[in-house]
Amino acid sequence: MTFEALGLNTSIIKALTDAGYTKPTPVQEQAVPAAIAGQDLLVSSQTGSGKTAAFMLPSLHRLSASEPAAAGKTPNQEMQAARARGERPRFKAAQPKMLVLTPTRELALQVTTNTDKYSVNLRRLKAVSILGGMPYPKQMQLLAKNPEILVATPGRLIDHMESGKIDFSQLEILVLDEADRMLDMGFIDDIEKIVEATPDTRQTMLFSATLDGVVGNMARRITKNPQVIQIVSAANKHENITQRVHFVDDLSHKNRLLDHLLRDDSLDQAVVFTATKRDADTIADRLNIAGFSAAALHGDMHQGARNRTLDSLRRGQVKVLVATDVAARGIDVPTITHVFNYDLPKFPEDYVHRIGRTGRAGRNGLAISLVNHAEGMNVKRIERFTKQLIPVNVIEGYEPKKTAAPRSTSRPGGWKPGDNRGGAKPGQRTFSKPNAPRRDGAGAGGGGYKGSNPRSTDGARRSYGDR
Ligand code: AMP
Repeated sequence: MTFEALGLNTSIIKALTDAGYTKPTPVQEQAVPAAIAGQDLLVSSQTGSGKTAAFMLPSLHRLSASEPAAAGKTPNQEMQAARARGERPRFKAAQPKMLVLTPTRELALQVTTNTDKYSVNLRRLKAVSILGGMPYPKQMQLLAKNPEILVATPGRLIDHMESGKIDFSQLEILVLDEADRMLDMGFIDDIEKIVEATPDTRQTMLFSATLDGVVGNMARRITKNPQVIQIVSAANKHENITQRVHFVDDLSHKNRLLDHLLRDDSLDQAVVFTATKRDADTIADRLNIAGFSAAALHGDMHQGARNRTLDSLRRGQVKVLVATDVAARGIDVPTITHVFNYDLPKFPEDYVHRIGRTGRAGRNGLAISLVNHAEGMNVKRIERFTKQLIPVNVIEGYEPKKTAAPRSTSRPGGWKPGDNRGGAKPGQRTFSKPNAPRRDGAGAGGGGYKGSNPRSTDGARRSYGDR
């Protein structure tokens, strides 16, 4: 499938070619033609699937074909004219044609940057971010230019709506990006209020990791006869892999537990993932001394040495591979029964790639994360991404001194290939819920940068859809 076949205009296709995009992603293949036809969409897809382009490309196509903003002066020009007449200039509300709502500032900025890239040959269409944390005068200047596209976090947008700076009566396209996250963060009322302020004639596209439950209800309320598009992501494909978390108190506890788990009778071969190359070397050395046949694999090794290590793994001469994420995507050895996260990966996507090293060729696998108590949030982030719950396990004689949050399903004892009952399945969670939604959206998802923010009590400025 080509971008031409999706029906996009040549200016947009040229921008995509210049950006190095050669063909549409699966979500784009399905969403773009439907959106060009003006259909409402409910799309379940993850970050990384190309979802931004999936809603932005057809929107740019439609907006570039539609009438330019009503002839006349921009709010900026109106104000200048008023000044020239000796009158006190009154701010005229911006009248955007498209609104993209996002849960976080980072995502809003990313969407705006991508929009600039895709619309580089469409001079008339400009996108502006309206975000919490940005100085109001700067945003007023941006709004005064009457941009066609607004990309906004809900809280700040409501402020501007309430003070009459934005008028949605001309809005043609509304996008809710990562709608599930916005709802998790407690923005339902804001979203309802914003949707209410837009014309019924709008096209609505909602993107969300899930279309179930509250999101699904809202989605159906605000769309008309939507086309539903479900993209099965890599995150959904690991049903034959049992996942577990073991809490550890410190490094020595972690090492003792790893050694114990590596002696499991059911273990054929294992990959142990570390955060750093140095740790990969150190742990491989330590495991060799402890009697395991272990080898390190990381990006500082020459390609020849990496290939030799992988060959030894495939031939079964190496039982435990200790690797950095460089190995997370490439290894396809069906006899790997276990994956250990000695350190959690930086990004949830990498977790999915790592655990995918086991459970290959139709077999079952076991993925165990050794986690200290401070990393509980990172586990939750992974769970949110994979939409799977990871049970906590405790092994007799290796119990952490600190008790984990009451979320554990304790299942001591051995795991056998074929035994997948410990796998994380919806409904198995017996532990505490994610943070309760907070009005400033600080409750979920992590991230954010530090700074002072009068709205937060812990001194951490939230990067979410705040004001
Ligand atoms: P998103 O899921 O929108 O966050 O996009 C993930 C990444 O994929 C971004 O860096 C996009 O620039 C990139 N991307 C989106 N569509 C394509 C495509 N058709 N070909 C190559 N890269 C793409």
